[in-house]
Amino acid sequence: MAVPKRKTSKSRKRKRRTHYKISAPTLTECSHCGEPKLPHNLCMNCGYYKGKQILEIKK
Ligand SMILES: [Zn+2]
Repeated sequence: MAVPKRKTSKSRKRKRRTHYKISAPTLTECSHCGEPKLPHNLCMNCGYYKGKQILEIKK
């Protein structure tokens, strides 16, 4: 196995990690109720996915 010649310093490690950041999740509109939802996921507002009710929403 190849071994690094020098230890990665705290500074170098931290500078590399400045590019790591979280991005806002992609949201799509539910085709049934119009609420924002995650794509390819069941709508948590109305419980529909692919035009069918999957989950009973109790209110
Ligand atoms: Zn919905």
